[in-house]
Amino acid sequence: MMRAYRFVGLTCLLAALACSKQKNAAATSPQTVEAHLDSGRIETQVPANSDPGTSFNEIRAMRYLKEIVAFGPRPIGSENHKKVEEYILSHLKGDEVEEDAFTIDTSEGKFPVRNIIAKYPGTRDGIIVIASHYDTNYPLRGTSYIGANDGASSSALLLEIANQLRGKKRDGYSVWLLWDDAEESMKLPWVDAESLYGVRHLAQKWQDDGTIKKIKAFLLEDMVGDADLNIDRDTNSTPWLEDLVGQAAVRLGYQSHFFGRINQVEDDHMPFIQRGVPSADLIDFDYGYGNVFWHTPQDTVDKLSPKSLQIVGEVTLETVRLLDKK
Ligand SMILES: [Zn+2]
Repeated sequence: MMRAYRFVGLTCLLAALACSKQKNAAATSPQTVEAHLDSGRIETQVPANSDPGTSFNEIRAMRYLKEIVAFGPRPIGSENHKKVEEYILSHLKGDEVEEDAFTIDTSEGKFPVRNIIAKYPGTRDGIIVIASHYDTNYPLRGTSYIGANDGASSSALLLEIANQLRGKKRDGYSVWLLWDDAEESMKLPWVDAESLYGVRHLAQKWQDDGTIKKIKAFLLEDMVGDADLNIDRDTNSTPWLEDLVGQAAVRLGYQSHFFGRINQVEDDHMPFIQRGVPSADLIDFDYGYGNVFWHTPQDTVDKLSPKSLQIVGEVTLETVRLLDKK
């Protein structure tokens, strides 16, 4: 994933808590990530949903994660990248899959890029997109960096969500799962013009063919496997959709893992935000105290937990259900 500005401030938590004043104040004074946060998380006492209607299998999701990581570094243009493409596709056999393949011309040369979209039709007119990038950081290609959290966790999460959607009649919006490509910057520090290639291409394509008007929500997953799970409230995301994610977390009793920090995150949702699509980035951008494991060879499986995948997976599916009912 890419960069973020952290805000110093109290928790602005969940659904209905009014905190616009605080957010506005924060929005004028972004702090860099070294700012220390003492986030007083709000523990709202709400009973867990007795019928979450999901059988999200976190053990299976963790197995996918480990299998993706086992390919090694997966930067664009690499053999490992091709292998993970094939790996994702091999889990979508029998599903309706669209591929959006094209070539990018970067300062590091030309590279093939491929977005993979699996479509699960619903009865209601409209689409909910759930996305994750599957490439690993290109500048770190020569290191032992394997992106267990940054890339593999969310890609594995989507594979398990596919299992939850497959073969079931959806009495709601169509759900499209998007494994997007070439998210990571070609250079570090981050270069806007040389990142988010996959989603920028797809958002433009969907704008040109009219698809974008049908997208009711864009839910982005990024760095969702940290055993110490604290999903940020992202100020670039659409407030009402963030609220809905918060409501889903409360319904499932997972609210202590959500919105303990306020962050402004520039990530794969940006091209959709810019086109007016309601979007939410589910990201935990504090991976190791001070985010020390991010974009380092320390981003390994031992820092992650299947429980975190379960929490984010179930909250995502609950958010979809709430959107269906809206
Ligand atoms: Zn990254």
